[in-house]
Amino acid sequence: MKTKEQDVDIIVSGAGHAGLTLSLLLAKAGFQVGLIDPAPLKAISDIKPSGRTVALLNSSINVLKAAIQTLDLDKISTPLQTMRIVDDSGHGKDLMPVEFRASEINEDQFGFNIPNAILKNILTLEVLKTKNIVVLDESKLKAYDVKGQQVFATLDDGRTITGKIIIGTDGRNSVVRDSAGIDIKRHDYGQTALTCLISHSKPHNNTSTEFHRSGGPFTFVPMKGDQCSVVWAEKNEDAKAFLSMKRQDFERAIQDRSHGLLGIITLASPPESWPLILLSADKITGNRAAIAAEAIHVLSPIGAQGLNLSLRDVATLAETLIDAARLGEDIGAPLVLERYEARRRVDIKSHVIGIDGLNRAVGNNLSFVAELRRLGLKGLNTIPVLKNFVMNQGLNPHMDDGRIVSGGGV
Ligand SMILES: Cc1cc2nc3c(=O)[nH]c(=O)nc-3n(C[C@H](O)[C@H](O)[C@H](O)COP(=O)(O)OP(=O)(O)OC[C@H]3O[C@@H](n4cnc5c(N)ncnc54)[C@H](O)[C@@H]3O)c2cc1C
Repeated sequence: MKTKEQDVDIIVSGAGHAGLTLSLLLAKAGFQVGLIDPAPLKAISDIKPSGRTVALLNSSINVLKAAIQTLDLDKISTPLQTMRIVDDSGHGKDLMPVEFRASEINEDQFGFNIPNAILKNILTLEVLKTKNIVVLDESKLKAYDVKGQQVFATLDDGRTITGKIIIGTDGRNSVVRDSAGIDIKRHDYGQTALTCLISHSKPHNNTSTEFHRSGGPFTFVPMKGDQCSVVWAEKNEDAKAFLSMKRQDFERAIQDRSHGLLGIITLASPPESWPLILLSADKITGNRAAIAAEAIHVLSPIGAQGLNLSLRDVATLAETLIDAARLGEDIGAPLVLERYEARRRVDIKSHVIGIDGLNRAVGNNLSFVAELRRLGLKGLNTIPVLKNFVMNQGLNPHMDDGRIVSGGGV
């Protein structure tokens, strides 16, 4: 059993995309960071093709660039220049596509689509070469204690680490959140997201297409070449049936749902599945503790908002701690943590409520709800001012514009 003690400024528990990005932002500002994760933190050389990708808005890319100055987007991502929403609720009505073009709000693109595993690998490599991040991998945070101005964290292999504050980016079952006594609300949608990579015979023209269907959303997100990642939500029992299909039948099911938009479709990676829940924490801070990302909110993938919201959490938290240190304040003090809570409240609440409402409305089979949905889309198509407002607020949010999110770095 290892019992070596480490002393750092900030303990970060959880090295997913959010925890890795946060650790880099804090380390770049000069903090000594201790990063804990049960998985081994190492680069992977043979990343397999997968449908798990993240569509990240321009503001999220600013956060990643603040964490990794040498980020080469051309190499790893595909620009998202047009977002298309199609009402495919059945009910004998025509499909009614609404297209949002980045050029309509004077942007080159809304954001970029990046394979999850590739992004994680790049963040991991950067963490491993950053001197002031102490990696405590292959072990879980078990518990922590606060004594005076110090946090004492214990790992399940017996190692201990001390710091001025502990941050939980440790996901939906966050130990930091539970230890801080923060309550959550959780709802199981009874839906599963199926993901896969497809190749297609027609070009995607950097357009992402979201079909609103009664089982849930069905989305094509462009990748390099003539490929797209697919995110497809279905009721649990239907998802199970699709997953047990033969390859050709699964391809035909995708083909049917695509209405021929992308020509002939073939699978380029095996389908994977993800249970869909809604989780929302009542608070985001505790005694010398703060939580961020999926420790606060787990959303349906509709609208691709999850990691975007998480990156705004970690950028704001990093900024709050950096500014407090520059002012000579105690970074774990309640006053400092209250600033983080106040800056994140509206963005988080509005997205948790908005994405939940959208997911329920899209999955709703009642004809009057479908009609309301169609009326909403028709309004967007015919009232340019409304469409511009939605694009600016929904696809390019300016709600929590700190310097990191706006591209000003740490
Ligand atoms: C199908 C699907 C499609 C999506 N598409 C998009 C998209 O297009 N755009 C977008 O913005 N978002 C999207 N999302 C959401 C996005 O993928 C997630 O928000 C993101 O991957 C979560 O990252 P995270 O770092 O918050 O959490 P996680 O990746 O869950 O990281 C948590 C980390 O904490 C560690 N951990 C757990 N317990 C402990 C412990 N006790 N001690 C220490 N460490 C611990 C875990 O090992 C893990 O590394 C999608 C989600 C799904 C399901």
